[in-house]
Amino acid sequence: MKFFKQKTNIVFLFVIFLLVASLSGVSYFAYEKHSDYVEITAGIERNNSALDEAQKKIDELTAQIADYSSKATQNEQEKAELNSQLQAALAEKARLEQENNNLKSQIEQLVQKRRDELQAQIALNNVDQADTAGSGICYLTFDDGPSDNTLKILDILDAYGIKGTFFVVGNGKTQYMSQIVNRGHAIGLHTATHKYDVIYKDINSYLHDVKQISDIVYNATGVRSNIMRFPGGSSNVVSAKYCQGIMSDLTVRMPSLGYSYYDWNVNSGDADAVAVPAQTIVNRVLSGAKGKSSICVLMHDNAAKTTTVEALPAIIEGLDAMGFRFAPLTADVYGFYQPVSN
Ligand SMILES: [Zn+2]
Repeated sequence: MKFFKQKTNIVFLFVIFLLVASLSGVSYFAYEKHSDYVEITAGIERNNSALDEAQKKIDELTAQIADYSSKATQNEQEKAELNSQLQAALAEKARLEQENNNLKSQIEQLVQKRRDELQAQIALNNVDQADTAGSGICYLTFDDGPSDNTLKILDILDAYGIKGTFFVVGNGKTQYMSQIVNRGHAIGLHTATHKYDVIYKDINSYLHDVKQISDIVYNATGVRSNIMRFPGGSSNVVSAKYCQGIMSDLTVRMPSLGYSYYDWNVNSGDADAVAVPAQTIVNRVLSGAKGKSSICVLMHDNAAKTTTVEALPAIIEGLDAMGFRFAPLTADVYGFYQPVSN
């Protein structure tokens, strides 16, 4: 062929060949490059979305940590506040203990003072009792009522035109309480239950019992009585079985609460047995009254004590013959105190 026979043409063809070969090489590499790009871009996108997830998780955890920190701060503050409250409570406890000790020593002093006063009064009373017989007043007192004997006792007192004093209990016979008051006699508080183990258990039990009988009397009669007699008297020692020193406290406490309490200086002895013969009771009272200028006679108003009722007219007549006049107890009358022994 004429064309291939010319040297320049062969060179030309060779050049063309080189051109074509180099172009296809470039496009091959370009293609390779493009496919990497797509893959990497997809990778970046995957990573971005994972990054978003990771960021979300980081935000959540950061918020939770912040929450815990704020709670921890709050707890620390609460703990500090509780600690300061604890310190204040401890200080208050120490202060109250100190105050209690002071008050206890004040009570000790009062009790001692009261004992001294009582001893002085008892001594004075003994001197008084040595005076001329029959110049004074007789206070007839009846404990443990009302009972089915109350009206009989009232009838006898009324027949002689004299007044007595009834230290009553809470036994349900309130209908007789109004009779006592309406007929002009004195009504005093003895006890609601008359159970030594209950009332002398502690101060609060005793005060509770007094409130009970006070309310019973008030509801039955409209009278808020301020005169009282301790079960067993203020000198009783049976209370020591239940509470050491309770009478020393109560003999100071009750007057400070506005009550006058009464013991006695003549014991009728009507409680020495279920039924003491009437004449024995009369003799005991009249001999007990001998040599005393003023007397407070202890008797009992109880359904079983029929001989007390029987003895009463002779007691009144005998004391009257000795020169005694009769009166109901009032809060200003001296209490005929016996020495406190518990
Ligand atoms: Zn009694």
